[in-house]
Amino acid sequence: MIEVRGLTKQYGNVRAVDDLTFTVQPGIITGFLGPNGAGKSTTMRMILGLDTPTAGSALIDGAPYSSLKNPLGKVGALLDAKALHPNRSAANHLKWIAQANGIPTSRVREVLDLVGLSKVASKKAGGFSLGMGQRLGLACALLGDPEILILDEPVNGLDPEGIRWVREFLRALAAQGRTILVSSHLLSEMAQTADHLVVIGQGRLVADSSTYDFIKQNSSSHVIVRASDIDVLANSLADQGLVSSRELDEEGRERLIVEGVSTDQVGQVAFSYGVSLFELSERRASLEEAFMEMTGHTVQYQASLKQEGA
Ligand code: ADP
Repeated sequence: MIEVRGLTKQYGNVRAVDDLTFTVQPGIITGFLGPNGAGKSTTMRMILGLDTPTAGSALIDGAPYSSLKNPLGKVGALLDAKALHPNRSAANHLKWIAQANGIPTSRVREVLDLVGLSKVASKKAGGFSLGMGQRLGLACALLGDPEILILDEPVNGLDPEGIRWVREFLRALAAQGRTILVSSHLLSEMAQTADHLVVIGQGRLVADSSTYDFIKQNSSSHVIVRASDIDVLANSLADQGLVSSRELDEEGRERLIVEGVSTDQVGQVAFSYGVSLFELSERRASLEEAFMEMTGHTVQYQASLKQEGA
């Protein structure tokens, strides 16, 4: 389990991570989601003891990373898949890390098999495609057969086939009971991969819930209805336990907004109470829009547009 408590990182006048508190549980994939610059990498680096927090703590099974006796056996990480020695073969790269960490070199062949790189084990990593580089990065992370995996944007730049492979691979690792924290700036990708989401924006926690609840809460839809007698319709809906509010359309006509219902239900109520409908439609708030709004992405984007224009 990973426990992050009040974690904060200040770089000069930039607060990269701001009082973050969350827990990462074993047996599931936890998606660490936020737009670029939200503070995901900084958080992961602090969990791995590569950066010192300004305040707060990050514990791995109750202890800081720096106090782990066998760190690679406990936590595997993929931070920057491009950080490879270009002239070293995949196998030699892994052997070098294994030897430096007291891991038997027989494990190298196992991890190359696991990530599907056995056939190119003797090829130089410098000639690898992005997808092969990511696989090699995952092989490194798995060398010590760790219980916990921390992966920063493992699907960044991969083609759909590569993305699917990583997703299936992480699912299998989670099913073995491992703890998996995987970051991404892509909501669509995380929604398909993660069981649980920790969402941050501008260093702050904005959501910590199951992916199912996150989607349900943030992709609300409502029905818009205009009718012959709006008071009768509002009362009829209320009789059925349905809450509605009023708004004026662009032509100044009053209409009802009904949350959490289908157009079928509203049409049926209107029919039973003898109300004629003039307009009946559904308005769906996009999950992507909700995500951008909650993470402050739109604000940052607008600010950078202004700078470019200045
Ligand atoms: P993410 O991984 O979500 O894209 P980062 O953790 O890389 O976000 O960055 C969060 C913020 O901290 C950004 O504003 C970034 O510019 C800043 N930042 C990250 N690392 C440093 C550093 N070493 N020095 C100064 N600022 C940094």
